[in-house]
Amino acid sequence: MTDTPIVETRGLEVRFPLPTHFLSREKPVLHALNTVDVAIRPGESFCVVGESGCGKTTLGRTIIGLQRPTAGEVYFRGKRIDTMDETERKPIRRDMQMVFQNPYASLNPRRNVFDTLVEPVRHLMPEMSASEARTRVEEVLDATGCDPSWQRRLPHEFSGGQRQRIAIARALVTNPAFIVADEPISALDVSIQAQILNLLSDLQAERGLTYLFITHDLSVVEHFGTRVAVMYLGRIMELAETATLFSRPSHPYTQLLLEAIPKLEGGSFDRPHPPGELPDPVNPPPGCPFAPRCPIAVARCRSERPELRKLKNGAEAACHLAE
Ligand code: SF4
Repeated sequence: MTDTPIVETRGLEVRFPLPTHFLSREKPVLHALNTVDVAIRPGESFCVVGESGCGKTTLGRTIIGLQRPTAGEVYFRGKRIDTMDETERKPIRRDMQMVFQNPYASLNPRRNVFDTLVEPVRHLMPEMSASEARTRVEEVLDATGCDPSWQRRLPHEFSGGQRQRIAIARALVTNPAFIVADEPISALDVSIQAQILNLLSDLQAERGLTYLFITHDLSVVEHFGTRVAVMYLGRIMELAETATLFSRPSHPYTQLLLEAIPKLEGGSFDRPHPPGELPDPVNPPPGCPFAPRCPIAVARCRSERPELRKLKNGAEAACHLAE
């Protein structure tokens, strides 16, 4: 694995204007991403974790090109891609694919498996002949543990785990280098989740894939991630190697998330959720965004926003008191 990033964001910002109340002159804006810098290395599983509404899905969608940034830059293999139009971007789209959370919604219910898989080949790899495209579809079906007899069947004929295998096959069919996997196991039965995670790991080892793996579940990250970015209110709070983050979490938010991981013995499998609620992203608090929930906040935290900074253990944390 080299340290030269395959994907990089610099100062990435996404804001969504909200409808104005008819009695108000204010134009509310939701701050979905705030100055996010990531540099994803080839071959790694870069995990992004955080509660709902923290901006992790927006980050994945903006990198892949489904969302335009309000400010900042996105690079793929050193080339800036966020300013490209659809035609310029087309050759890169085969290299960057996405697996969505819900395999019940992400597959066209009227399209059989073969047509679902061959469509990206026809669109993004026009140099392939029809027989080469058919061979390609068969190859990815085999690689993802799908039976060749599935090709003429429709999505409703499959279980959730089988549909997610088909969705992974669709992402792989253009032979990408980078995949955004947005909560790829959270809609599946617990018994199936490990199978899909193992499949993603095996495919990464075989094909040298790089993942941006988005999840709310830190216990998944511990076994799957190379590095972890913990997000809160559109910002990265901590970025560390997985082993460092789990053995010595530096940010109070990470510490609370780790404490909230449910234990198998006698515990429930409800989503980890530290005490308190996310602040309103339309009116984020001044200073540290985590201050209203932080058990060790001091006066400085409520007025001065902490920047992400490097710590002695190699991690980066946005906290005045880390270390
Ligand atoms: Fe808590 Fe202050 Fe650190 Fe924010 S900067 S996480 S409020 S200690």
